[in-house]
Amino acid sequence: MSEILIKNADVIVTMDGARRELVGADLLLRGGVIAAIGAGLATTGEVINAAGCVVTPGLVNTHHHLYQTLTRAVPGGQDALLFGWLKTLYPIWARFGPEEIFTSAQVGLAELALSGCSLTSDHLYMFPNGARLDDTIAAAQEVGLRFHPTRGAMSIGESDGGLPPDALVEREAAILEDCIRVVDRFHDAAEGAMLRVGIAPCSPFSVSRDLMREAAVLARDKGVMLHAHLAENDEDVAYSLAKFGCRPGQYAEDLGWVGPDVWHAHCVKLDGQEIDLFARTKTGVAHCPCSNCRLGSGIAPVRAMRDAGVTVGLGVDGSASNDAGNLVAEARQAMLLQRVSRGADAMSAREALEIATLGGAQVLGRSDCGSLEPGKRADLAIWDISGIEAAGSWDPVAFLLAGPMRVRDLLVQGRHVVRGGAMVTIDLVAVVARQNQLARALRQ
Ligand SMILES: [Zn+2]
Repeated sequence: MSEILIKNADVIVTMDGARRELVGADLLLRGGVIAAIGAGLATTGEVINAAGCVVTPGLVNTHHHLYQTLTRAVPGGQDALLFGWLKTLYPIWARFGPEEIFTSAQVGLAELALSGCSLTSDHLYMFPNGARLDDTIAAAQEVGLRFHPTRGAMSIGESDGGLPPDALVEREAAILEDCIRVVDRFHDAAEGAMLRVGIAPCSPFSVSRDLMREAAVLARDKGVMLHAHLAENDEDVAYSLAKFGCRPGQYAEDLGWVGPDVWHAHCVKLDGQEIDLFARTKTGVAHCPCSNCRLGSGIAPVRAMRDAGVTVGLGVDGSASNDAGNLVAEARQAMLLQRVSRGADAMSAREALEIATLGGAQVLGRSDCGSLEPGKRADLAIWDISGIEAAGSWDPVAFLLAGPMRVRDLLVQGRHVVRGGAMVTIDLVAVVARQNQLARALRQ
C-alpha cells in the first residue's frame, strides 16, 4: 500500500479527544488512512516536508449550492433580503442545464479545496433542462473531494402560492422516484466512503407538508441523511407561523425532521425551546455566517447552541449569497460574529477551527473524518505560515484564521488534490475559462 510521511510540521492540530496540538511529530499515511502519529517515523514512500507549516484535519463544508458559482454578485440580487433575492435569481437558474451544473460545481469544489476543505455536502434543488444530481457527482469525482450531494426539490410553484416559478418545480412523485434512483445508484454507506447521498427538499416554503413527511420516511428506509433550510430569517419564521400555525422547529418535529440523521441550514432564528429540541434529538446545524450577513438574516445563536450540546458545522452556502466559497474565511467569520453578538470571549479561534473540522464531520455523520488520529481517513490540510502575513505571529494555531486563506497542500484519502497551492486534479485555467464563457451566455 502507498505511504506518505509528513515531516517537520511546526504544529499538528489533531482535534482528537484531548484536542492535542503536537510539536515535533510526524504523520504517516497508508492506503488512504492515518497509520501513525509520533516522533521519528520513517517510510519508503513519499516524504512531504511541512517545515514552516501547520497541519490540520481537512475542513468540512456542511452547506452549499455549488451551481450558484455561476451567479455571483448578480445585480438586483446584491442588496435584497432572502425572498426578494430568490425571486431575482430563479429566472436565471431556470436557464441552466447539465453543462452549467457540472462546470459551476467544478469551480465551487476547487475553490473549497484551495481553502482547505476535504469533505463537502451540496444541496441541489432544481433540475432544469435535463440537469441531474449525476452532473455534480461527475464534477466531484474529477476534483477528488469527499462528497455528500443531496437530492433537493421544489414542488410548490408560484401558481400554488409558492415562491419559485412553475418552470423550476417538479411533481412530487417524480421527485421521490429520482431520490430513490440516486440513492440506489450512488450512496455508499461503508466507512471511508467518498460519496454519500442525502435527501433534501429545499425548504418548508417550497415543498408540501406531504413531501417533507415522505422524504423523511424514504431517507430512513434507505439509511441516508436529511437536509433542508430552516428558520433562516424573520420572513421565514413569519411564513411558518402564517402558513403552518407553528414555529419552524415545531414544524420540523411534527414531520419527522429531527434526529442525528438530520441537519438544517442556517437556523438563525431558533429560539431557546428549539435549541433544546435540537440538542435533545441530536439534530445538526449548518452555520453559514457570511451568507447570513450578506442577506442581513441575523446572527445565529451558535454560542447558545454549542452550550446546549447542539452539533454545529460550518457552511459557505451558495455563492449567490456569499459571494465566495472560502471555508477558512468562513471559520473566521463565525468567530467574529459570535464576538460581535456576545463579547470577545464568546468564541476562540480554536473553537471556530473545531466547528470547521470535527463539528462538520459530526453533522454529516462521519466518525471516520474530522480529526487526525490513527485509523481515521487521511484527509488533511497543510497551511504555510512562513509568509509575510504570518511574520511576527506568536500562536500559529490561533493565527490560522487570520492568515493564509489558501492551503499549501490538501490531501483527501491520502491523495493530493492541491499541491504547492495549485489544483493537481483538474485543469483549473480551462475550467475557469469555461465557467466565464457560460456566465457570459447567461447574461445575454
Ligand atoms: Zn442554502
